[in-house]
Amino acid sequence: MSQQLSDRINSLPVSQTLAMAAKARELKAEGRDIISLSLGEPDFNTPDFIKDAAIEAINQDYNSYTPVDGYVELKEAICKKFKRDNNLTYAANQIVVSTGAKQSIANIAQVLLNPGDEVLLPAPYWVSYSAIATLCEAKFVEIPSSIDSDFKITPEQLEAAITPKTKMIFFNSPNNPSGSIYSEKEYRALAKVLENHPQIYILSDEIYEHINYGTKPFSFAAIENMYDRTITVNGLAKAFAMTGWRIGFIGAPQWIAKACTKMQGQITSGTNCIAQRAAITAVLAEPSKVQYMVDEFKTRRDMVLNLLGEIEGFKLNVPEGAFYIFPDISAFFGKTFKGKQINNANDFSMLLLEEANVASVTGEAFGAPNCIRLSYAASELQLREAIKRIKEVLS
Ligand code: GLU
Repeated sequence: MSQQLSDRINSLPVSQTLAMAAKARELKAEGRDIISLSLGEPDFNTPDFIKDAAIEAINQDYNSYTPVDGYVELKEAICKKFKRDNNLTYAANQIVVSTGAKQSIANIAQVLLNPGDEVLLPAPYWVSYSAIATLCEAKFVEIPSSIDSDFKITPEQLEAAITPKTKMIFFNSPNNPSGSIYSEKEYRALAKVLENHPQIYILSDEIYEHINYGTKPFSFAAIENMYDRTITVNGLAKAFAMTGWRIGFIGAPQWIAKACTKMQGQITSGTNCIAQRAAITAVLAEPSKVQYMVDEFKTRRDMVLNLLGEIEGFKLNVPEGAFYIFPDISAFFGKTFKGKQINNANDFSMLLLEEANVASVTGEAFGAPNCIRLSYAASELQLREAIKRIKEVLS
């Protein structure tokens, strides 16, 4: 029988972050000594106090279906977190807990976007934003930036990108992949532009909020007249080293939260019961309890920046948050290695994989074709070795 997949799936690109991580795993299984700096995943274990809460939940027989939008106790805990960390006031009926922030984002896109709507993506942006918008038959519109503007867009660029069809902007700070953090002043300047375009909703992805090195991230919804148009997305994966637990959540206007619950009710139902019980403990914990991981990430960031800085052709900025380095490597375009020409970031990333046994992610996946992404959520030993290999190949 012929294989007749839908046009939808045929036109959907594979997630480049996951694809590169899978490739690295595959090569490792074949015996290659690969160092994977591809996936954005803390290399720490989930803290014991959170694991204990999960074990207790199992022993207390939490095993039934959960409310589609999450346990009330978790939603109330999330409201406290929003107040404590972001000065945002949400009621429990404005919260929806999902299977990872990725599902939260997909829900929002599904409930707000119609075919033909335009979604603004300040580039670089996380790989799945464009795919999620495309699945809704919306058109994504990139707003480019470069390392020279610290990978941030200006209010003028935002204004120029808006058309009568613009329905949403996906905003992410601290940013994956660049690590840049918009200051409160920069947020307010962008909000000033959006004030004149009341039809635009803001998806503010704040998943890296706690992983910052001094610049405290700000929340879009904290700007007075943006609250009613903003959906704040967050989750536990990054700051609490809980990637596999799959807990994401939103704070949103109630009508949007209700629609997301309806959508989720037809697709996945409520999130895993044990993970939700553990999440109550995690969100109520003071961020200082996970600061040891952030401190470690900062030490590694500094080390990686120093070591990469020694390689001619790597143009670097200083990421203020998240755990990625996003160098501009366009100086290598046009050069040849072992008879193969490096024409773009894809070629460069493949060169690192094939010749240095180091997995990275091409910047093309993030709408930044001059760059590659290296995750420094890896041990100091691995990072040193990876950069040594990269240096050897490039010299
Ligand atoms: N968000 C992480 C990354 O960018 C995890 C992989 C994914 O879901 O894209 O690497």
